[in-house]
Amino acid sequence: PTGAALPGIAADFPILARPLRGHRLVYLDNGATTQKPEAVIEAERRFYRESNANIHRGVHWLSQHATELYDAARATVQRYLNAAHAEEIVFTRGTTEAINLVAHSWGRSQLEAGDEILLTTLEHHSNIVPWQLLCEQTGAVLKVAPVDETGTLELAAFDALLGERTRLVAITHVSNALGTVNPVAALTARAHAAGAVVLIDGAQAVAHQGVDVQAIGCDFYAFSGHKLYGPTGIGVLYGRAGLLAAMPPWQGGGDMIRTVAFERSTFAEPPQRFEAGTPNIAGAIGLAAAIDYVDRVGLARIAAHEHALLGHASAALGDIPGVRLVGTARDKAGILSFLVDGIHPHDLGTILDAEGVAIRAGHHCAMPLMTRFGIPGTARASFAMYNDIGDIDALVAAIHKAQDLFGTRRPG
Ligand code: PMP
Repeated sequence: PTGAALPGIAADFPILARPLRGHRLVYLDNGATTQKPEAVIEAERRFYRESNANIHRGVHWLSQHATELYDAARATVQRYLNAAHAEEIVFTRGTTEAINLVAHSWGRSQLEAGDEILLTTLEHHSNIVPWQLLCEQTGAVLKVAPVDETGTLELAAFDALLGERTRLVAITHVSNALGTVNPVAALTARAHAAGAVVLIDGAQAVAHQGVDVQAIGCDFYAFSGHKLYGPTGIGVLYGRAGLLAAMPPWQGGGDMIRTVAFERSTFAEPPQRFEAGTPNIAGAIGLAAAIDYVDRVGLARIAAHEHALLGHASAALGDIPGVRLVGTARDKAGILSFLVDGIHPHDLGTILDAEGVAIRAGHHCAMPLMTRFGIPGTARASFAMYNDIGDIDALVAAIHKAQDLFGTRRPG
C-alpha cells in the first residue's frame, strides 16, 4: 500500500462528494465519527420503508420479520468479534452506555470498599468517569497505570499496580488521542493471572483492525457503531456468557423481564436482560450493514492502507519546522496528534476548516492524558478507509497556510 486511494471506496460515501467552504471535503476527524457508506444509509431506509415494526411483541408477520432482522444483526456482530455465542452481544447506545452498563450491573453488585479498579492514563473520559462514580458508590479505589513520553503504556508499572485487590482492569484497545495500540491480549492475561475481570474499550479499534474477543481473552469489550461506518445511537457490549448470566439488570422495563408482579419480577436471560425497552432496531440493522461493508472491503486491506497513510502523514508533518508530533508509540493506529508552534490547536482547526480540512482540536475527552503531557490539547488527524495521500497533502498545505497567517512559517 502506498496511500493511494482504495479504488471505488470514496465514491461509496455520498457526503464526500459535497463541497465544503468552496473546497473538496477533506475529512480527517474519523476518530470522532466516521462517514457512512450508501449501503448503511440504504439499509436503514429500507428497514423503515419495508420492514418497520416493534420486535419481540408481534404475532403479526412484520414484527416477526423485524425481530429476525434484529437477531441477524446480533449474529453479524458476533461473527465480527468472533464471540462464542450471539447471546454474548448486548446492543447499547454506544461505548459509553456499554461501559456504564458494566459499572452499574457488574460493578455495584461485585465491588466492595477497598477493591481496586486499574485503568491507564490513555483512557477516554467514558472509561474513567463511570468508574469514578462506581468508586463513590462502593468505596472502591481507582489506580492508574502510566504511559511514557511516547504514549506507550509502562508495562512494569502496570504489573506493579496489579494486586490482590484488583477486581477490574479497564483499558482502551486504541487511544483516541494518540493512536497508541495497547497489547490487550497480553494485558488481559496478566490481569486474569491476578484474578481481575477485564473490560476493553474498543471504540477506536473495531474499524481499523480485526478484533477477536476469544483470542484477546477479555471479559467485556465495548464499541460504538458510529465509529465503524454505522449509525449513531447503536453500540455493543460483548460480555462473556458466564459473567453476563450472573449479572443483575441495570435498567428495568419492557422486554427485559420473564414475569412481572407487584410483589416481585423475574428477569430474562442475557442479552434481553440488559436491553430494556424498544431498542434502536434500525440502528442495529444499519450497524450490521456497516460490518458487511467493512468485510467486503477487507479489514486487512483497510489496516494496511491506514498504516500507509499514518506513515506518510507522520513523515510529512514531522518535516514541517515548528510541528511537534504527540504520541510516537511503536504500535499505532491511524491517529496523529500534533502541535504547531505559536498556534493554538483551536485556531489551527479553524484555519484548516476554512480550507475544507476537518480535524479535531482539543483534549479529545482525555484530559488526564493531556495533563500527563503538560498540554491543554492537540490537533488530531485520524484516518479512515476513504482517505488518501491527497488528503494528507491538503492537510500539509493548510498547516503551511496557518503558519503563513501567524507569521511562524520557517523554511523546511
Ligand atoms: N472510548 C474511546 C476510546 C473513544 O474514542 C470514544 C469516542 N470518542 C468513546 C470511548 C465514547 O464513545 P461514544 O461517545 O460513542 O459512546
